[in-house]
Amino acid sequence: MTNKDLAELIFPNIDKTVEDYEKIYPSRNGKVVTRFAPSPTGYVHIGGIYQAIIDYLITKNNNGIFMLRIEDTDQKRELDTAVDLINEAINHYGLLPDEYEINGQIVGKYGPYVQSERKEIYHAFIKHLIEIGRAYPCFCTKETLDELRVMQEHKKQRTGYYGKYAKCRNLSVSEMIDNIKQGKPYVIRFKSNGDFEKKFKFHDEVKGDLELSENDEDFVIMKSDNLLPTYHFAHLVDDHLMRTTHVVRGEEWLSSAPKHIELFDAFGFEHPKYVHTPLIIKKEGNSIRKISKRKDPEASMSYYSELGYPTRAVIESLMTIINSNYEEWHTENPDKIFTDFEYNPEKMSSSGALYDLEKLNNISKEIISKMKAEDLYDESYKWACKYSESLKSLIEYDREYYKNILNIEREQEKPRKDIVYYSMIESLIWYMYDDRFYNSEKEYEWKNITDKEEIKNILDLYISKYYDENDDKDTWFNKVKEMCDELGYASNIKEYKKNPEAFKGNVSDISTVLRVALTTKSNTPDLYCIMKLLGKDRIIKRYNEI
Ligand code: GLU
Repeated sequence: MTNKDLAELIFPNIDKTVEDYEKIYPSRNGKVVTRFAPSPTGYVHIGGIYQAIIDYLITKNNNGIFMLRIEDTDQKRELDTAVDLINEAINHYGLLPDEYEINGQIVGKYGPYVQSERKEIYHAFIKHLIEIGRAYPCFCTKETLDELRVMQEHKKQRTGYYGKYAKCRNLSVSEMIDNIKQGKPYVIRFKSNGDFEKKFKFHDEVKGDLELSENDEDFVIMKSDNLLPTYHFAHLVDDHLMRTTHVVRGEEWLSSAPKHIELFDAFGFEHPKYVHTPLIIKKEGNSIRKISKRKDPEASMSYYSELGYPTRAVIESLMTIINSNYEEWHTENPDKIFTDFEYNPEKMSSSGALYDLEKLNNISKEIISKMKAEDLYDESYKWACKYSESLKSLIEYDREYYKNILNIEREQEKPRKDIVYYSMIESLIWYMYDDRFYNSEKEYEWKNITDKEEIKNILDLYISKYYDENDDKDTWFNKVKEMCDELGYASNIKEYKKNPEAFKGNVSDISTVLRVALTTKSNTPDLYCIMKLLGKDRIIKRYNEI
């Protein structure tokens, strides 16, 4: 009985060999290849998009190929809609892969790009390892393994299936074959040749040259229930055959790198470059901690879509934590897009990437303030169609009117920066719609002038004597000042400051009354523009309401 017999017994139907697959998926002749390889968990974590941006950047910088690979070997966790969510997220952010699979349709010559569809390929590779004596079936039950762990913990030893604890590695081939024939359940383990006491040099593109302990664990490479490989093994096969040059992944994988290196060496394959990205962390009070799916809504990409951040704002904010020199570059090159930036893994923080929503908000405000009204109209309408029936109906009521509202204090040198995300828009413009204005509980934000009689007096005088809808802005404002003089308010702030006692108030008190009576708000965009858009009849009606 030989290893070959064992391999044949376990994989009787696997005819293709590792060499066959080498031919099916030939070398890409030096092309840079990256992949985003999420597991479909039903949740797109900010760390995933952060990695996808890096993958995308590396390919754009090097005229390479970006793949999307779905890592669904842990099928218990898989959710039906999870893959759609991933596709939606990367499309939303414009991180379009060159090779991928969608609804069973494969785009690219190195597919399938969904791991559960690559079972045969993995089996061929495992078969090869068994044949060369570098993998074996392990029949240890869960109970045996639990006991082993408890014993190791008790003795304060490293836990795991290694060295003398790797019992099944010592079974003879005939014993293994007998066990299988008797129907005993098994997993397949890699047979390690490593020595944990020995160190080897490992180069990480972010962390530089490291010394890591060799792997000595006989880790599981194929699971018993679905015969699919574990992450460690699938990663090796896929990244080798897909000719991945850069593996960008979270630093939580760094501790498994020795396993991966030993696997690559067992096959005699060159290993890819590793870019282990730092964890995304956040400030909480005085401490700093990892962004957590459980505690932080902003860990999920749905947070940003639901609030309606422009995609560019989210990308820019992540770029600032991807490379420390990005912001400076962006300031110097305001017209370039993020893919023009040369990503440098050495310029990543190795201790953690500090993400700050305040910063995102500032970036977002800036981006929205610079959008043309037409573009903001498009983007916010798209957002509303998905997330807000109420804003959608406002927009559809009169699209031009909505655009004109958006255009107040926009498309000028110092545009207004009051919109952080699209879901805020409605709360900033509702009073421009009579339907909302008359049907909501209104709280007028009067300031210095609160006396109802005085307010009425101002409004009546304004309408009867000073308001003319055809006035240009200067004339309009001069008339407000004239009215101030007539009513005993200072039209000139300097004079008012010199001698406040001499006046009932000043011109800003008067404009506040005109503004609040019309909008309920003491702070709005340009009042002249608002009046222009509302028009005479609506203004008079609102003033008469008071
Ligand atoms: N499926 C793994 C994860 O979601 C991917 C790690 C990798 O990119 O290699 O963490």
